[in-house]
Amino acid sequence: MHPALLATIALFVSTLCYASRCYLSPFGSCRKCQGKRRRGPRHCRRCDSTGLRLRVGRRLWNYVRHLHHDGR
Ligand SMILES: [Zn+2]
Repeated sequence: MHPALLATIALFVSTLCYASRCYLSPFGSCRKCQGKRRRGPRHCRRCDSTGLRLRVGRRLWNYVRHLHHDGR
């Protein structure tokens, strides 16, 4: 098989996996506090101490959905 075709298939499959992950669990754990809600003694401002953050793919999906909704 051609290497470029193989790379295209791999990219497509990984994108599909990521999209389904964003759909099934839109929240990932916060990278700043690793989902522990705190950074040492301090309150985590990145996730507002929820330990969760919205995945980039899901944020993109929400953006596209709003764009579509507003574009009527
Ligand atoms: Zn956090």
